[in-house]
This record gives sequence, C-alpha cells and structure tokens, in this order.
Amino acid sequence: MKITFLGTGTSQGIPIIGSDHPVCLSDNTKDKRLRVSVLVEWDNYSIVVDCGPDFRQQMLNAKVSRIDGIIFTHEHADHTMGLDDIRPFFFKQGDIPIYAHKRVLKALRKRFDYIFKTENKYPGAPNVIQKRIKNKPFSIGDLEVVPVKGRHNALQVFGFRFRNFAYLTDMKTLKDKEVDKLRNLDVLVVNALREKPHPSHFNLEEALDFINEVKPKLAYLTHISHHLGFHDSVQQNLPENVFLAYDNLEINI
Ligand SMILES: [Zn+2]
Ligand SMILES: [Zn+2]
Repeated sequence: MKITFLGTGTSQGIPIIGSDHPVCLSDNTKDKRLRVSVLVEWDNYSIVVDCGPDFRQQMLNAKVSRIDGIIFTHEHADHTMGLDDIRPFFFKQGDIPIYAHKRVLKALRKRFDYIFKTENKYPGAPNVIQKRIKNKPFSIGDLEVVPVKGRHNALQVFGFRFRNFAYLTDMKTLKDKEVDKLRNLDVLVVNALREKPHPSHFNLEEALDFINEVKPKLAYLTHISHHLGFHDSVQQNLPENVFLAYDNLEINI
C-alpha cells in the first residue's frame, strides 16, 4: 500500500492569503501546506480521503489518472469543496463512488445540488454513487476499511483504518472502544494543529499523548497550522518515531 500526503495544512492552508507570519513567508517547500487529504493506493486501486478546495492541484501534483472513490471524514469546507473537480475522472470513468456518513451525504447534496440532480441535469455536471457508511467495516475492492469514530468538538467525524495504516484528522476526542480499533498499527496519521489548545482539534501535546496511547510503530502529524511553527524546527523536537507530515510525502506500508 502506498500513501501520498496530498495536503497537510489546516483549513486556510499555508501560506494564508495576505499573511506576513514568518511561517507563511518561509521558502521551505515543507512549510507550504494544501488542505488535508491523502491518496491511498493498493493493487490497481486508488482512493482519496477528503476532497477539499485544493483537490484539482493535488490530483495534478500526484499525477493521479483514475480514482476508485472518495471517502469523507466529515463535511467541513476544507474537506469537501473540491468535489466539482472530479469531472475529469467522471468523463473518463463514469460515476464516481463517494463514501460518507449519511449526515455528510446530506450536506453534500445541499452544497452541490447540481451534482445530485436527477432531472434536467446540466450535461457537464459529474455523477456520483452515494455509499452511506456507518461505524462498521466496509470494503473497497478487496480492501477492508474500518471507520474510527471521534468527535471534532460536538461534530461526529470518521477516521479510517486500512490494514496496518490509519488516518485520523479533525479529532478532539475518541472513546476507548474506538481507540481499540487502532492496535498494532505500522503507521498512524493524526491531526496536530498547534501548541495552544483548540476546542475541536488535538494540539501537539494531545496528539503526542494519543500516539503514546495507541503505540503505532510510526506516527505522522497532519492538519497543521502556521502557528505550530517551521517544519524543520518542530520536527527536531518530536519523539524519534513521530514525524511532521508534509505535502507530497509518500510512504509505503
Ligand atoms: Zn479540517
Ligand atoms: Zn473540520
């Protein structure tokens, strides 16, 4: 299985438009972060987790020529607003499966009403196949996907486990029985926004505590704000099995 970090930034991305914060002005490419998403590839399959406003650029950067579906963590704009840009895949492949909680599907139907229209649909609009997911394992091809439920302040969000890899973002709290789904991981990805606490995201300390609890072999941090600091200096102070993810990073599992 190959994982590509398509984006590792928090909702505004880094740099933030118009910002003169030193991290936003950094020349280091690792300090440039598109909105969070990962590409998961195995056998001949490729799926994307979330489809934010940078989706088009991310598909170009990673040279993705087909996708077998999009899995959504939750409905926030930084995770969904690129849905229109599935059009090149739809024109080539036909209807694109989207996997999401029923509340997230409802939000997408409202926001992208023209995509879900069944009558008098504009010919250039893409078609999707809605796949409702609950908090129980489902399959894409021969790959089992295990949802992991958490809370993002009051909002329910799903993380996902694929074999010995798990991807969690926008998490603030998880119940013990959900954490139990994350045993024996080779790689855990988890959100770490900044040092200061935040009502709906793990800060760095909470993310490191969570990693200590789950005990994956390796962990990567994502959904990063410019307030966390420069990539290279933050990395220096992390435990030896914990890494800041950065855009276009690829890992093989
Ligand atoms: Zn987010
Ligand atoms: Zn969110």
